[in-house]
Amino acid sequence: MIVDAVSVVPEVFGPYMDASILGRARRAGVFEFRAHDLRRWTHDRHRTVDDAPFGGGPGMLMKPAPVFECVRELAGEGAAPRTVFFSPAGRTFTEDVARELAAEERLLFVCGRYEGMDERCYTLADDVLSLGDYVLTGGELACMAVTDAVVRLLPGALGDERSAQEESFSDGLLEYAQYTRPASFEGMDVPGVLLSGDHARVDAWRRRDALVRTARRRPDLLASAPITDEERAFLVE
Ligand code: SAM
Repeated sequence: MIVDAVSVVPEVFGPYMDASILGRARRAGVFEFRAHDLRRWTHDRHRTVDDAPFGGGPGMLMKPAPVFECVRELAGEGAAPRTVFFSPAGRTFTEDVARELAAEERLLFVCGRYEGMDERCYTLADDVLSLGDYVLTGGELACMAVTDAVVRLLPGALGDERSAQEESFSDGLLEYAQYTRPASFEGMDVPGVLLSGDHARVDAWRRRDALVRTARRRPDLLASAPITDEERAFLVE
């Protein structure tokens, strides 16, 4: 997969994209990440990418011309990308959306800054994504979060492919509680079944724990989670 990210502060991507799992995945050729400075598509002495909003109001907006020129040029190189913008007004990013994006050959992310973008820029977008109901100063963190969530779904990105299959949301539920050594820590004991070596009992305990945690913390997920009638009845008890 090729990921192009456009930003007025492209230097912020480097450390995150080079570190740990993403860095290893990049070096292994699982994905390529190319950061682009939007100012490359400006033509004035000051390399201006923003301007004041019509109608007044605080702050500045990203001008349409550099964004259009940049997206048209980058999208025209190689395989057509899925072009994604970021905004608090976008579709909420979820693991399902990450799976959709992971099926793409190429992603082009355009990060907003300032008070946001001239509305006409969004006509270039295949998707506008929001990380959640809060306002960030720029789209770069959203771009990194989305890239991270997508890349870890790509074959070869994680050491053990089961990691991505057994995580929260992979089966519509939150993940079960996990523990590591020591078995007893400051008076808190690991559930005995996890020490039993009985895989069937461990699996059954994990499924139940995932159901109970989801019911307690995110009951909204249960409506669409593929759970059996028996499991639903268990949760009602
Ligand atoms: N004035 C905009 C509003 O009220 O919706 C907020 C603009 S924000 C300060 C600047 C940029 O940060 C946005 O254009 C977007 O790219 C990014 N951004 C801010 N919050 C975000 C969120 N929750 N999810 C995704 N991107 C976000």
